[in-house]
Amino acid sequence: MSTTESTATARETTLTSVDPATGAVVATHPIADEAAVRAAVAQARIAAATWGALGYADRRRHLLRWGSRLVARADEFCELIHAENGKPRDDAYLELTLALEHIHWAAVNAEKVLKPKKVSPGLLMANFAAYIEQRPLGVIGVIGPWNYPVYTPNGSIAYALAAGNAVVFKPSEYSTSIGNYFARAFAEANPELPEGVFGTVNGYGATGAALVHAGVDKIAFTGSTATGKKIMAAAAADLTPVLLECGGKDAVIVAADADIAAAADAVAFGATMNGGQTCAGVERVYVDRSIRDEFIAEVKRILSSVRPGSDAKAAYGPMTMPSQIDVVRRHIDNALNNGGTAVLGGPESVKAPYIEPVVLLDTDENSEAVQEETFGPTVTIRTVSGIDEAVELANNSRYALGSTVFSRKQGLAIARRLRAGQTSVNSVLGFAAISALPFGGLGDSGIGRIHGAPGLLEFTSPHSIAVQRFAIPGMALLSYARTERTMNLLRKVVPLIHGRHR
Ligand code: NAD
Repeated sequence: MSTTESTATARETTLTSVDPATGAVVATHPIADEAAVRAAVAQARIAAATWGALGYADRRRHLLRWGSRLVARADEFCELIHAENGKPRDDAYLELTLALEHIHWAAVNAEKVLKPKKVSPGLLMANFAAYIEQRPLGVIGVIGPWNYPVYTPNGSIAYALAAGNAVVFKPSEYSTSIGNYFARAFAEANPELPEGVFGTVNGYGATGAALVHAGVDKIAFTGSTATGKKIMAAAAADLTPVLLECGGKDAVIVAADADIAAAADAVAFGATMNGGQTCAGVERVYVDRSIRDEFIAEVKRILSSVRPGSDAKAAYGPMTMPSQIDVVRRHIDNALNNGGTAVLGGPESVKAPYIEPVVLLDTDENSEAVQEETFGPTVTIRTVSGIDEAVELANNSRYALGSTVFSRKQGLAIARRLRAGQTSVNSVLGFAAISALPFGGLGDSGIGRIHGAPGLLEFTSPHSIAVQRFAIPGMALLSYARTERTMNLLRKVVPLIHGRHR
């Protein structure tokens, strides 16, 4: 068994997570088999009855207490994130901060977004009152990735809880201790709540697959597109709804009127931070010919002093999942074999478990390196002759997650032409830090939205209620008591309402 990655065989009953920088064991966890997963879901269903029956104010209090507990333990938690995921402690703290923002947003906005709404019954049903009420779904199965092991699954967890659901969370096998710490903090902050409002099941893909079949009311998955497709196919057997947050191949457009220094800074950071292991990280850049040389020189200048490591001064850590190193190496080779040139780094930049920044220029747009998610600290840059070409190439992807535009005058207009779930203008990843903005993708990047009001609505089901306030004599439309006179009246009224438009 490799000492540098989390592994299991069919016979193993425990999962050992390791520090990706050193291979040192971080923790060992029992693997939840199908029976254990079903038991966790059953316990969550009991807890959901209590949690769902609480008012918004009570749930808000419990969620905010959880946030405060995480703040009180932040140093310990960030140390664990650093050890198990490999990212620098400061990055861990930033990730925790953003998760806290979302816990807070979901807690304080749930009532406003989800409270019953009265809607117009329309002229024909004017004797009715009509309401839309959002009901919690019950138990949400959350399956998470390892790259942002707190922030990413929290986009489902905090919003599902705030909407009144219980959660069973299957953290990634590469961040199991982090996921369990996160859930334990909720229970410790709220000892009076029944066990199972927010619980975990641990294991590899098989445990996630068991969760999909364990009778949950929705699966909220974040991870690779390939796994997302498997989950959707499996969930179809029971018509279990799915929220899928999958991969991306995010593009940046740098227009002729861009602030070149700001764009270069954003590309350098967005492409390499977290070792490029960011779903909405920068993977492709389309830069206007007129500013290309200056832009590339600035990107190179910044990245020349950016280096990975595990020490306090390192900009980013090791690759968390060892098998990803091969993908990154393959994409660098593929770029160079498809017309690309390396303007910074190259194949020699892969020094497992670390990968130094790599900047690749003018690789064929149809190559694997430009079309597939690399998920490493590399970026491809292509020269374009204007906005139309940049937009066309940026949109030429089976993925459609995030995107970025740098332009002093046309930022918003260019953003509106991009096929993406979210776009940041004159900054990188701005959307990910604004809790009110929904986040998600199109195409192979996924289905549904986390964060913001849509992120709360994802975890509810609308219940429509029509209340007849009084009967209108002779106007019983939905009854065998309907008369000829009523239908004659209807034939006069309908053309007046719907037949006037020419
Ligand atoms: P992954 O698909 O390998 O694993 C994700 C989770 O799914 C893990 O917990 C894993 O154990 C589980 N799993 C694996 N097989 C399963 C199965 N058959 N049934 C149920 N669960 C199963 O992804 P990863 O390597 O952990 O994460 C990296 C990927 O996540 C990248 O593609 C990245 O772009 C994506 N991601 C997307 C977002 C987003 O918001 N769109 C955020 C972060 C990461």
